[in-house]
Amino acid sequence: DHGLSEADPEVRAIINKEKERQFKSLELIASENFTSRAVMEVVGSCLTNKYSEGLPGKRYYGGNEYIDELEILCQKRALAAFHLDENKWGVNVQPLSGSPANFEVYTAILNPHDRIMGLDLPHGGHLSHGFMTPKRRVSGTSIYFESMPYRLDESTGLVDYDMLEKTATLFRPKLIICGASAYPRDFDYPRMRKIADAVGAFLMMDMAHISGLVAASVVADPFEYCDIVTTTTHKSLRGPRGGMIFFKKDPVLGVDLESAINNAVFPGLQGGPHNHTIGGLAVCLQHAQSPEFKAYQNQVVSNCRALARRLVELGYTLVSGGSDNHLVLVDLRPLGIDGARVEKILDMASITLNKNSVPGDKSALVPGGIRIGSPAMTTRGFTEKEFTAIADFIHEGVQITIEAKGLASGSKVQEFLKFVSYPDFSLTDKVSN
Ligand code: PLP
Repeated sequence: DHGLSEADPEVRAIINKEKERQFKSLELIASENFTSRAVMEVVGSCLTNKYSEGLPGKRYYGGNEYIDELEILCQKRALAAFHLDENKWGVNVQPLSGSPANFEVYTAILNPHDRIMGLDLPHGGHLSHGFMTPKRRVSGTSIYFESMPYRLDESTGLVDYDMLEKTATLFRPKLIICGASAYPRDFDYPRMRKIADAVGAFLMMDMAHISGLVAASVVADPFEYCDIVTTTTHKSLRGPRGGMIFFKKDPVLGVDLESAINNAVFPGLQGGPHNHTIGGLAVCLQHAQSPEFKAYQNQVVSNCRALARRLVELGYTLVSGGSDNHLVLVDLRPLGIDGARVEKILDMASITLNKNSVPGDKSALVPGGIRIGSPAMTTRGFTEKEFTAIADFIHEGVQITIEAKGLASGSKVQEFLKFVSYPDFSLTDKVSN
């Protein structure tokens, strides 16, 4: 058996380039992180060879004694990492990623064309929360279910709970979804619970972005109020790419969530679990219970606050005025520029973030904002000081964008590239392979 360099130099060369890009850039995409070498080792292991359709002890293939042991360990660690009582909560660790996990929940507890309400994508929600435009049902979650999004109050940048309540009373959804991809504040879970109860809806939280922060108890705990909690595993949680679904063990609205959700995952929508991912996730969830992990998540939040503080000092408008979690959303429209251009200019200087819609935007391709997240660079050891400097770099990039009117002036961009000379931060053993 050959190593990759010998077996396929072409793919090895691409990986090398990507690795160098990851090393050399300031990674500020709020949904990304650097997972550990230990997790990478599991993801690249022989676990990828095994078929194990079904659940531990109830498989459709032989040879699963160790895979059963692994999946049970992963489930136990998942419940422990989120401080859950095994008698009250269960978890399915097989979802292939966040979007499938969400769709699996919907098919588990809803009938086709039942009504759902999630935060609208241009206001920070995710595609898989029922996204549709006036012209098109974009996501499968709006094709197979009837979606009526709720939105932010544009004057505060906070979820408009009053309007959500009014709409829910008229629309009578069967499921209300908390959680977002670009919302810098905590959800008001008690309020959402009240609204769900008043209309007889299930309440679900998609904590994909903030699951690391939830595990470390640095943000509000959605498990206190929700019936179902879904998550990806590769964002602030810092695991391999995957998904999980947590469910209450007692029936909710007459539905046995445990069997409905387990059946929706397999055989409903998936086949064989990705055991290499489940193994990597088990490693991540063990780490998520450590004091270092809690310190890391605290640092993620303080770094984000330092970034927000400096951006406000520099005169920027932040959606909701600041941040309680790992991301800030900057509204660039008062400066007369858009997020797409700023993303491009910053990308040329190896500062990686993403353009993002802000409330009131007309176009998702040329939106008026940028989203900046702190998890990845915090993994690489950055503190408040470096995040304050990052705000200055971004400011410089924005100035260049304004002056150069986008990419019109190459020389301005070159000047900017010279200005951005990064401190010599090394990845040590944080990233491998
Ligand atoms: N849910 C939320 C809130 C997300 O932000 C994302 C991804 O960004 C997802 C779900 C989907 O995860 P995946 O890309 O793994 O399908």
